[in-house]
Amino acid sequence: MDHMTQLVTHPMVRQLVKSLSLPVTLPTLIRRKAETEWQRPLLGRRVYMSTFGKDAPHLVRALSALGANLTLAGDSAQLRGALDVAQAAGRHAHTIDAKEGDVAAVVAGLVAAPEKNDAFVFDVARLGGSRQLFALLQPLLASFPSHARLIFVTHLGDKATPREAAEAQGVFGFVKSLARELGRKAITVNVIEARGSVHRDAFAHAVAFFASDRARYVTSQRVVLSSSNRKVAPTLALTGEHALVTGGARGIGAAIAQVLARQGAHVTVIDLANARDGAAQTCAEISRAGGRAHFVPCDVTKDDEVNAALAAAKAAFGPITALINNAGITRDKTFAKMKEAQWNQVLDVNFEAAVRLTEKVIDEPGSHDRRIVLLSSVAGIAGNFGQTNYSLSKAALIGYARSLSEQRSDVQINVIAPGFIDTVLTREIPLLNREVAKQLISLLQAGEPEDIAEIAAFLSSPAAVGLSGETIRVDGGMFIGQ
Ligand code: NDP
Repeated sequence: MDHMTQLVTHPMVRQLVKSLSLPVTLPTLIRRKAETEWQRPLLGRRVYMSTFGKDAPHLVRALSALGANLTLAGDSAQLRGALDVAQAAGRHAHTIDAKEGDVAAVVAGLVAAPEKNDAFVFDVARLGGSRQLFALLQPLLASFPSHARLIFVTHLGDKATPREAAEAQGVFGFVKSLARELGRKAITVNVIEARGSVHRDAFAHAVAFFASDRARYVTSQRVVLSSSNRKVAPTLALTGEHALVTGGARGIGAAIAQVLARQGAHVTVIDLANARDGAAQTCAEISRAGGRAHFVPCDVTKDDEVNAALAAAKAAFGPITALINNAGITRDKTFAKMKEAQWNQVLDVNFEAAVRLTEKVIDEPGSHDRRIVLLSSVAGIAGNFGQTNYSLSKAALIGYARSLSEQRSDVQINVIAPGFIDTVLTREIPLLNREVAKQLISLLQAGEPEDIAEIAAFLSSPAAVGLSGETIRVDGGMFIGQ
């Protein structure tokens, strides 16, 4: 966390800002506990959900297995079944007796609940329309605790009517605005949209992940899940995986390597030869924490070096099962002043190298069920002054992932679009510009490399099988647009 964020959240500074009526909104600091229980990201958390719908019992089972205590709303027969499931998993459950669509009973039950919930899963289809959304949510607003996770689940079948499509899109619009209003309390608000017949485990893993603190910097986001014939893993673990992380010597790449290793993967770190010291430090920290990693120097734009690095990686830890294309550079200039070399360098590292490496990994003989993560940027979605080359390269990654996911059902490929992340790069931005930028973020603070790393770890896991071709913005809700 940067010094300024630490300073502005000091109680005395908060008091001063308040007494001077300064036009600054002070954030609640995001909760970032060292994740020792990453396999059960909901341990010690209480999650509200309703027990209506055919997938509800499965979701109760999955959330319980991932450590959640539950607050369950439903009619008495459903509650009895759900309670048995939760208790069999050793979890506590509080129940709210309510018939389907009886929003008033749910509100009364939640307000009177003996313990506050940390996460809320609202199945929009079971509510019965946007008016009910208002009737349910508005009376509850003040009761959402800081750091709460609100998840709105929508379903779009293959034959969705225009009205159903409008409702799902409408919920997304609502969520984006609500995220802005609740961000100052470090509350995140997201949509999980299931398209077609999503595997129940894939659905449950996604709900659990986004309901946990591992997804703390994702807000005002729609995560689309679709059906897949790839195998669904029973856990969020990365045990047995071999992950290759490019640009892993420092910044976001180093955090990704460390988080993947902590979650069980063997990690190959790739970076330029002159980044040897940083890479060695990344690997040493992984070893100290009991993980396994090695460094292979490689310029990802050089084909012979990439081939040698892949061979070295395979010799150390076997076939690569997860590839995280993180290496990226900026050569910022307005388009008028841009040199051709700056244009080409950025395209070569950010796009061409990532695609070439991806194709080598997924086309390796005998390879199947590979997971690919591409690091894009919100600049690739919204554009940015002085970054025509960078935005082109980062937007191209989004198009590439979408198209490849349609053509290769054996590959799980997704994109992360980070927003304002506290790294060496962003610390170079003048202080005032940095603070103004933060005021435009729903969560009112910069993200940390580990926030990106947690999403990369999820997308690298076979548990995220419902997602492919998707772009997840990890930007604290800074973005105006899709
Ligand atoms: P850093 O510059 O801190 O790290 C990038 C790493 O990639 C460096 O170690 C760099 O080595 C390495 N690298 C550069 N070129 C090559 C190459 N040809 N071959 C191998 N390695 C190479 O970046 P961040 O950690 O800040 O960003 C990581 C990714 O996230 C990038 O793709 C970036 O575009 C993206 N991103 C970052 C944001 C942020 O706020 N920081 C926001 C949005 C997106 P060296 O240092 O020697 O050049």
